[in-house]
Amino acid sequence: MYDIRREHLHERWACMHEIPAALGAIQILKNLAKSAIDVRQTSALREQAIESQAAIIELQTTLLNMQSQYQSLLQEKDTLKKQLADIEDWSTEAAKYELKDLGRGVLVYAQRPEYNALTPAHWVCTRCYQDRQKSVLIYTGRYIPSGNRFSCFRCNNHIHTDNAIPGAATNQSL
Ligand SMILES: [Zn+2]
Repeated sequence: MYDIRREHLHERWACMHEIPAALGAIQILKNLAKSAIDVRQTSALREQAIESQAAIIELQTTLLNMQSQYQSLLQEKDTLKKQLADIEDWSTEAAKYELKDLGRGVLVYAQRPEYNALTPAHWVCTRCYQDRQKSVLIYTGRYIPSGNRFSCFRCNNHIHTDNAIPGAATNQSL
């Protein structure tokens, strides 16, 4: 996030630096207009017109660049807003779970008891949780010789428990 913001500021400064160039070009136009009134000779007028045309083109290019940079900044702002909203959404979702030790070093994220009334008890894959993804572990059968097997279909992670099932009290928690 820090680097993105620094880049954002850098681009804003690049945009701001175009303004003096635009103002300089406008000043040239003003001076040329004044000169055109004073000049009596046709050849001198032609020269002034050529200079004036070049200044207008420069001004137009500068303003188009500013417009383009402004559009980029708007798009970047939208992207950052979306990233921030995603982070906030995940933080809210992640706070509903706590790490549980099912024994023998088998870890899952289990729904905190206060949320059990809202959704059926379930476990979430620890590997996917680290990736800020909620992936429910699915019961995929008995584990020989005794126990249960749960699988994550997102990252293909499998865990083997004794007879623990989601929602049942475990005697170890972190
Ligand atoms: Zn997973």
